Amino acid sequence: MIPLEEARDYVLRRCEGPASVVVPLADARGLVLAESVDSPEHVPPFANTAMDGFAVRAVDTVGAPVTLDLVGTVAAGVDPVTTGTEVGPGDAVRIMTGAPMPPGADAVVMVELAEVSPDGVAVTVGVEVSAGNHVRAAGEDLMTGDRVFDTGTVLGPGHLGVLASIGVVTVHVRPRLRVGVLSTGDELREGSAALAPGQIRDANRPALLGLLDELGAEGVDLGHVADDEAAIEAALVNGVARCDALLTSGGVSMGDFDYVKVVLDRIGDMRWMQVAIKPAKPLAFGLVDGMPVFGLPGNPVSSMVSFELFARPALRSMAGHRDLDRRRVRAEVVGGLGRHPDGKVHFARVVAEIVDGRFRVRSAGGQGSHQLTAMAAADGLAILPDGDGVADGDQVEVLLLG
Ligand code: AMP
Ligand code: MG
Repeated sequence: MIPLEEARDYVLRRCEGPASVVVPLADARGLVLAESVDSPEHVPPFANTAMDGFAVRAVDTVGAPVTLDLVGTVAAGVDPVTTGTEVGPGDAVRIMTGAPMPPGADAVVMVELAEVSPDGVAVTVGVEVSAGNHVRAAGEDLMTGDRVFDTGTVLGPGHLGVLASIGVVTVHVRPRLRVGVLSTGDELREGSAALAPGQIRDANRPALLGLLDELGAEGVDLGHVADDEAAIEAALVNGVARCDALLTSGGVSMGDFDYVKVVLDRIGDMRWMQVAIKPAKPLAFGLVDGMPVFGLPGNPVSSMVSFELFARPALRSMAGHRDLDRRRVRAEVVGGLGRHPDGKVHFARVVAEIVDGRFRVRSAGGQGSHQLTAMAAADGLAILPDGDGVADGDQVEVLLLG
């Protein structure tokens, strides 16, 4: 057996992502910027009002209440210079949120603090305001030439908004990965039809495709193949041609019909690892035509945990992320998490809650590698070092999922 870190480093060192591409901004959420972005313009582009109210000269409000001549209106989207709207001494202009400040005005009095005369020709301002009151200066968010985002920035919803605000319509990013998912095993069936004796349903493909979706990768469903060398080879070759990485599950253990191993050894440069962890001890990883292939174990919990520990960080790295790992927290164990010494680090499926700002975890249910319901319920994987487990009330380190 090799330590988890050694297996992980081996995998990460061999995963190289595809070259950067240009995509429309609308398709870029979750992707990583492959270039830095500088602002070509000011945001906001012009001084404007933050409130509905009246644009005034601040000096005219000294000694308020004061009554000013109401000489015009500026709506959002209107240029007061074009309409000839100006604020001279003793004047006020009705102004709507987002509208440009008319020439002459340097402050805004909010509508709630002013009263228009019944004939509509004057407004009485009830407060003294200082210059700049409720005015948003040009460039207050970004100035022309400002560095907006560095290379490596992960584009979230706010980033898309900022880029749109400076007129960016396409971005240079690391592409969304296409990752093929293949299930193997004579016993596997999908759908709802009755199972013949010895058959089970394919749980791994939907689970792995779901993990890819959560990761922001595009999962490519390569279906399920029987334990047959030719069928496995055809499916793998098809996957390699269409994807940036491949995940297979099953067929990498010590069984007589574990042909994934045989085929990958023939067509790829694979390493077969026994990692000192439970679940997910067997891991096949290698390159087929330079493309990373993860041979994940067949047991459903093992395949998901193996994805978490190896495939997820590797795929994130291939997609240009610098931050590869799930968050780790310390948590108090409720009810204990038992185990026996076996030279491995155990990853127990736990549900987490936050009590008084502190994490607390308890077992999510049956901890067998075939018991997928506990994995489904889990918020985290508690890391149990080799030994006898963690007692009730003791602290444990937890990898938070999702
Ligand atoms: P294997 O690694 O092929 O020996 O499979 C290990 C265990 O995982 C066996 O009990 C298989 O039946 C089960 N298994 C393999 N693939 C899947 C799958 N896609 N869905 C559910 N169980 C599976
Ligand atoms: Mg099998």
